[in-house]
Amino acid sequence: MDMTGMMNETVVSNDEPPLLAPKANATDGVAAPVDARRVDPRQNPRWSDWRWHIRNRIRTFEELIEFFPSLRSSPGIAKVAAKYPMAITPYYASIVKNADFSDPVFQMAVPQMNELYDPDFLHADPLEEEEDMPVPGLVHRYRDRALLMSTTTCSMYCRHCTRKRVAGMRESTISVCQLNAITDYLHAHPEIKDVIISGGDPLTMSTSLLERILQAVRSVPSVDIIRIGTRVPVVLPQRITPELVQVLAKYHPLWINTHFNHPNEITAEAEAACARLANAGIPLGNQSVLLRGINDEPHVMEDLCRRLVRMRVRPYYLFQCDLVRGVEHFRTPISRGIEVMEYLRGRLSGLAIPTYVVDTPHGGGKIPVLPNYIVSVSPTHTVLRNFEGMLVNYPEPTEPVKRTPAVASRSGTHGVWELASGQASAITPSTAYRQKRRQQRKLQRMVHQQEHPEFSSLLNSLMNEPAT
Ligand SMILES: *Cc1c(COP(=O)(O)O)cnc(C)c1O
Ligand code: SF4
Repeated sequence: MDMTGMMNETVVSNDEPPLLAPKANATDGVAAPVDARRVDPRQNPRWSDWRWHIRNRIRTFEELIEFFPSLRSSPGIAKVAAKYPMAITPYYASIVKNADFSDPVFQMAVPQMNELYDPDFLHADPLEEEEDMPVPGLVHRYRDRALLMSTTTCSMYCRHCTRKRVAGMRESTISVCQLNAITDYLHAHPEIKDVIISGGDPLTMSTSLLERILQAVRSVPSVDIIRIGTRVPVVLPQRITPELVQVLAKYHPLWINTHFNHPNEITAEAEAACARLANAGIPLGNQSVLLRGINDEPHVMEDLCRRLVRMRVRPYYLFQCDLVRGVEHFRTPISRGIEVMEYLRGRLSGLAIPTYVVDTPHGGGKIPVLPNYIVSVSPTHTVLRNFEGMLVNYPEPTEPVKRTPAVASRSGTHGVWELASGQASAITPSTAYRQKRRQQRKLQRMVHQQEHPEFSSLLNSLMNEPAT
């Protein structure tokens, strides 16, 4: 990849003197605008060429200070970027309004020393995705859908990324051999109806490579829908070319989830990119992450959601920040998210309100979290409250609801629903001491009654474990 001399060659004109930190204006004390001494990079003839943006990503501290001279006094950034890779497309850098950490776009793109803070409750893989990988590159956690990690490359490395352990660590793409193994797995598991092509960012791949993956997944007849998770419409909208869109549309039903976090990311270019996708019949969703100081203000989230629906992007999920190493400074308490949800409901159309979810540690998956709307229940009435605080009673039907056993037995999953529908009577944690004691006693009986003498060694090992 040619990343040499990008800034002095193209983004900044050659006759400019070396860039210095913008000086405060002596007369009124207001800092000069960031771009005051720079040629507008948008004037570059290759601005609309997505490959140019990828080739010219800001990857080193030296390149960064050419774009944001005020960072010259923060050499620690180089140390952070050595631990967690940095990449910023010229486009994304150009939508920064203030070159400091008060700016949401700047915060999502530029490394901070805070990333090195590493308390022990944070993990490299907090969702334990590696544990749910039956074949390399495919996470199969939920019965009917699976997530395919197509590449480790992104055009911009979000500082809040939940896959910091992979994204950008080594920029590589899935091999033919891996793709074959994944396709075989999908054939062998017809219960998988929905394949999410993720990464990294799949739209950083060449169109031909992406098409090979799409073809492979589409060749499995049991796969109903294909989803692509991508931040490209936000950080590299130039990538959404008519040619790419044409290819994507061949693999319908195909959905795209993108990742806008702040209204400042919604530019004319991003709008045009989303329009091209929507016009090709691709339903668009958005997955935001709740980020401290970026979008955890209810008004900011309202603005973001309104602008998303205006460009035909449906707010899908709002994620609580995961317990990922290097992102502690972005986390908010869950109460903050509930506050935001409290604010949105009633003010915005349901169409514009995302589902707030906590993707739980240990691979527990996504758990939706809402303010409490049920105030009280009795067999005859449910008392609800609305967003205004009005309490209303909903009288329940007097006829009991019939259960159809045929429907009940169709599900192969085991969860709380089986309890609620009366098909199971308890779910007990396998780690509870009480359960261990029961197991020990049961084994003891079997061994002593000489029914299963072969269990005696298992019994011995169990008896040596504390079960108090
Ligand atoms: C989020 C996720 C999915 C998709 O979940 P949806 O709720 O269907 O969007 C699938 N697999 C894994 C591993 C996930 O993390
Ligand atoms: S685009 Fe997605 S995978 Fe890539 S760095 Fe951002 S959040 Fe992570």
